[in-house]
Amino acid sequence: MTTKKLAEGTEIILKETYDFNCPSCNKLMYAKPSLFMRTGMANLGGGKCIDKECNTRFTLSIDRNNERMIAELINKNEV
Ligand SMILES: [Zn+2]
Repeated sequence: MTTKKLAEGTEIILKETYDFNCPSCNKLMYAKPSLFMRTGMANLGGGKCIDKECNTRFTLSIDRNNERMIAELINKNEV
């Protein structure tokens, strides 16, 4: 574990991987912190659901309280 600055004035301990649920089908997945997260530039990442029938794109951010990631649909109106 390494301590990195995630945002100005705050320090958090980044984990190797974070789990999160797909915002569309609720499938449980895992992600590593993005380059932005690791360098402390921004709490921002993204990905795509591994379920081929879902295939939803989403953004990821680390929830510091729950030590997991929050996935949000990129275009919430397009569901
Ligand atoms: Zn999904």
